[in-house]
Amino acid sequence: MMFSDDRADVVVVGGGLAGISAAIELAEHGLDVTLLEARPWLGGATCSFARRGLTIDNGQHAFLRSCEAYRDLLAKLGVLSSVAIEDRLDLTVLAGAPGPTMPSQVALRRSGLPAPLHLARALAGYRLLTRTERVSAAVAAMALPLAARRRIGQRDLTFGEWLTLRGQDENARRMLWDLLSFATLGLPSAAADSGSAAAAIRTVLRARGNADIGIPLVPLSRLHAAPAVALLGRLGARILLGVKATACRPSYCGGFDVAIATVPPGGSAASADSARPTVIHARALVLAVPAFEAAELAPAELAADAARWARLEPSPMVSLHVVYASRVTSLAFAAVVDSPVRWVIDKTDAAGLHSGQYLAVSVPAAGSFVDWPSSRLRAEFLPELCRLFPAAADVEVEDFFTTRERRALIRQVPGSPRLRASQAGLRGLALAGAWTDTGWPDTMEGAVRSGLGAAWQVLRDLAVSGPDVRDPGTGQPGWRGPDFAGLTGHFPAAAPQPGGPVSPVDLTPA
Ligand SMILES: Cc1cc2nc3c(=O)[nH]c(=O)nc-3n(C[C@H](O)[C@H](O)[C@H](O)COP(=O)(O)OP(=O)(O)OC[C@H]3O[C@@H](n4cnc5c(N)ncnc54)[C@H](O)[C@@H]3O)c2cc1C
Repeated sequence: MMFSDDRADVVVVGGGLAGISAAIELAEHGLDVTLLEARPWLGGATCSFARRGLTIDNGQHAFLRSCEAYRDLLAKLGVLSSVAIEDRLDLTVLAGAPGPTMPSQVALRRSGLPAPLHLARALAGYRLLTRTERVSAAVAAMALPLAARRRIGQRDLTFGEWLTLRGQDENARRMLWDLLSFATLGLPSAAADSGSAAAAIRTVLRARGNADIGIPLVPLSRLHAAPAVALLGRLGARILLGVKATACRPSYCGGFDVAIATVPPGGSAASADSARPTVIHARALVLAVPAFEAAELAPAELAADAARWARLEPSPMVSLHVVYASRVTSLAFAAVVDSPVRWVIDKTDAAGLHSGQYLAVSVPAAGSFVDWPSSRLRAEFLPELCRLFPAAADVEVEDFFTTRERRALIRQVPGSPRLRASQAGLRGLALAGAWTDTGWPDTMEGAVRSGLGAAWQVLRDLAVSGPDVRDPGTGQPGWRGPDFAGLTGHFPAAAPQPGGPVSPVDLTPA
């Protein structure tokens, strides 16, 4: 699809959760929005593909009740009934290599008491730690607010270093703190930035229901992509799929010129035909692409900032997909400690499997595994799954395949907070993406918050004054949009162009 002399109030580049959230917010306020997505579907890092009659997610995605912006987005998309959020945190934690006196699994259940007492009984019964370690962990948890500020001289601490200063031994780090560190930042405590980990864990523990876990009941393409296409279509936004922004620069007549190129069907974003670019002129621009792409796309005026963003390191994620001939566990979701496997989720129903059991297994911070061939991953991880789920030893594996996201997350190591982008200094240009400085880790919640923040900045920059809404908890820009009722009609409305249905694509398994 090519356009000459194309115009929009706002071009949003990137159709992940950040771009989707920004586009919805802007379109809801009457702006003429064009959303560009290089891939043939929306959803970004949350996508699905078809394989042997099943719909497979690229990687399992869970969330917490504290993810309010994300839950608001689900409500807007009309898909709240397609996720399950537990009434009370009840997480089974499996031990990868339990010691002789250790149980192979424990349950982390919260009570109805107010925070922080809601987890007191769970910690008291957490028998992967000794009694002394449990008491010590409780004391350390009380000091989490301090962790955000602790440094040694000029050096930021890893969370592991901070835990050591707080008397947490190796076993406590492996069995408890790594669980929390992986859950929030996707990294072990030994690597995670202490401030980021402490802030995220504190958020999770702060209120009684915050840590209750939510999981999708349908494939991610049905949870995010398809409803977003439908809603944006109803709002009159234009979605261009398979269209990549190749350059952005301030326009001599104000606003921005965005050069676009089509990505050939079946091609990667890198294969976009930039020899024949077309330009869209926009009054404002939201860059909602990953850090590395944002650094490349940023106008020359932001070169110094962009050089900083480009220094953020990626953290790969490997997902293993195992279809068993019959059930091997009754758990819908489990965390694992002391193992490269960190999360296991039962995707049988969500993927559409009618007999047997399909488990999706997450291996985050997977730098050492991401280049392994599938056969080697299979040889390494199927025995590990048999240790975790002994019934699996007697059940035939009908299918095993892997998906790999080399840049799944940013590595939130010491120093990384200074590299995350706060808003760009160019009027009319807003940055979004879970990697930006939202005060949240690189998660779906962070992505949605960043998209809303970017949209509100654009509304302000386009001289649409609104209240400066802030999250009362963190002081960060909040997620409940200002009421811009009455604004609709200030800007020309675009003809609805829903961009066509989003269909899952076939990926060749590794
Ligand atoms: C395997 C995996 C498991 C995860 N598990 C969880 C989880 O359990 N819970 C959780 O909260 N989070 C999880 N995350 C993280 C979460 O998915 C991301 O933080 C979030 O989806 C990022 O959204 P985003 O919009 O910021 O970026 P993205 O989703 O990366 O979207 C950016 C989009 O921009 C597009 N793009 C890039 N360049 C261009 C260009 N030049 N022109 C046009 N388009 C472009 C890309 O194609 C992409 O679609 C997981 C991530 C992965 C990969």
